Amino acid sequence: MDGPDESNGEAVPDGEGTEPETALATARRQLERAAANVDVDAGVITRLRHPTKLQQVSVPLRRDDGSLEVFTGYRAQHDDVRGPYKGGLRYHPEVNADECIGLSMWMTWKCAVMDLPFGGGKGGIAVDPKDLSEDERERLTRRFAEELRDVVGPTQDVPAPDMGTGPQEMAWFMDAYSMQEGETTPGVVTGKPPVIGGSYGREEAPGRSVAIVTREAIDYYDWDIEDTTVAVQGFGSVGANAARLLDDWGADVVAVSDVDGAIYDPDGLDTQDVEGHDERPGMVSGYDAPETLSNADLLELDVDVLIPAAVGEVITTDNVDAIQADMIVEGANGPTTFAADTVLGEKGVPVIPDVLANAGGVTVSYFEWLQDINRRKWSLERVHEELEQEMLEAWEAVRTQVDEQDLTWRDAALTVALSRIGNAKETRGLWP
Ligand code: GLU
Repeated sequence: MDGPDESNGEAVPDGEGTEPETALATARRQLERAAANVDVDAGVITRLRHPTKLQQVSVPLRRDDGSLEVFTGYRAQHDDVRGPYKGGLRYHPEVNADECIGLSMWMTWKCAVMDLPFGGGKGGIAVDPKDLSEDERERLTRRFAEELRDVVGPTQDVPAPDMGTGPQEMAWFMDAYSMQEGETTPGVVTGKPPVIGGSYGREEAPGRSVAIVTREAIDYYDWDIEDTTVAVQGFGSVGANAARLLDDWGADVVAVSDVDGAIYDPDGLDTQDVEGHDERPGMVSGYDAPETLSNADLLELDVDVLIPAAVGEVITTDNVDAIQADMIVEGANGPTTFAADTVLGEKGVPVIPDVLANAGGVTVSYFEWLQDINRRKWSLERVHEELEQEMLEAWEAVRTQVDEQDLTWRDAALTVALSRIGNAKETRGLWP
């Protein structure tokens, strides 16, 4: 399906308290609020409410028992004025067109905040990967790659891992694409295993950037990291890497969780000792900690920093008044609904947005893409150094907007992104 489907998501309610809302509704409201702070043509803002293209494909899968099942896959390509569409592919039962469009908008802002030469895309398949065997995941991924073959490519649209996908899915995707193109094309996806052109440090990168940005925010507010308590929802790749780095840098990580629940130690957990969800599923809630909590209780702990790093829409009007954290750093994409974000803004609770905080993932994806094009591997040390530098530059650009325009961190990040995107659109012009 080409072009934005107006029936999908155009009916965005304007009022407050209209939750639950879709990722697309949240992304559009955030766009409108931030647009007031930038000198960008109103037509450009209208244009950015819609994706350039939305692909919807049927993905047939031969199950191991011989039966045939058909899944629906999507690829939303939001905007490519600054470079190829870029963003993950997620395997999750709730994947749908609106979610992909909303998430692809966030990727456009994320790449622009980081000043990467990419636009925004996002896609996925409405499937629960836990219901599939490894062979089935491989067949599904290869067929999805084939269905998307005409619209992806190193200079067109470059997918990456997201919820429910990882390096192995990227390897199958890259192989299927390469076999059909007749040449090994590592730059068609990022987040691959290093042995086939993946970058060292890519898997840890989103968590690493969450930790870097948290450290900078602690410094900005003149707190001492040694006296800072942190709660992290989600102990997968993003949450575990962020928690362990902050723990290494002196913070007290008092609570972490997985889907089954949270563990809590007011004196600080030994985060190296807790096995992450990706390392051994189920080990977080099985860990011998002084206290266990529900995931909902973790969000309401009286900590200095709360890092939601699991799924979207966990801070809503239902729990925002009970949130006691002094600062929120978004590890997941879209964990705070628009209405809850507004309440936090009114209360003066800083929310460091996803498009800055977890942008280390796409930044190291950019490093990977450069390595693939140049056929030259970077050391882990170089990846870490360049990521640190990119994060500090983006932090500085956003901080300047916070200080000069007295904006929330989210509005400031979107302001940085929108002025870069608007400028690029004006400079290129509209054609045909
Ligand atoms: N899925 C990740 C994100 O949401 C990474 C995207 C990428 O590396 O292209 O930022």
